[in-house]
Amino acid sequence: MKALEEKILKEGVVLPGNILKVGNFLNHRLDVGFLCEMGAEIARLFRDCGINKIVTIETSGIAIAMGAAIHMGVPVVFAKKNKSKNVSGEVYCTEVVSFTHKNVSQVIVEKKYLEAGDKVLLVDDFLANGMALKGLISICREAGVEICGAAIAIEKGFQKGGEEIRAMGIRVESLAIVESMTDDSITFREQ
Ligand code: 5GP
Repeated sequence: MKALEEKILKEGVVLPGNILKVGNFLNHRLDVGFLCEMGAEIARLFRDCGINKIVTIETSGIAIAMGAAIHMGVPVVFAKKNKSKNVSGEVYCTEVVSFTHKNVSQVIVEKKYLEAGDKVLLVDDFLANGMALKGLISICREAGVEICGAAIAIEKGFQKGGEEIRAMGIRVESLAIVESMTDDSITFREQ
């Protein structure tokens, strides 16, 4: 998505540790109009797949998931990183290593929000080593729902997640794929 690549070039900041900061529109301040544009593109890519639910992971996946959900007319279920008091009943649970925080979280979804027959689109803001997506895949598989694919705002193509998840037979569509980045340059993969 050309507009996303241009926005990354204009507003993105490369931080040490292979982190791309896009706090100005995706991770801290939310550019809601632009999130809706990204959502429309995700809806276009996955039209005709019969998707009835989006599954994402808190916190940063929620905004882009909502952008897509508005255009697809489906609900969003987000995996919670900690079992808070307002989670009750049976849960699916897995562990996810956070790329940005370097810690391990228990990630949970209440069983009642994933139902037999669901056709699910996984959505997240970034794809790096694939740990967050693999956590969601594991929960969806345990729930027995169909995974129609994964939509990512920004994939870092120089990390292994995209390749590994595509090798699992899952369709991954990333609106922008960063091929390489340094302090003063970011290059994108042609798609
Ligand atoms: P993975 O699990 O694929 O290694 O990393 C993806 C998760 O880590 C995403 O949910 C995202 O929140 C975070 N993440 C990974 N790389 C970056 C990055 O370069 N910038 C930002 N802002 N978040 C990232």
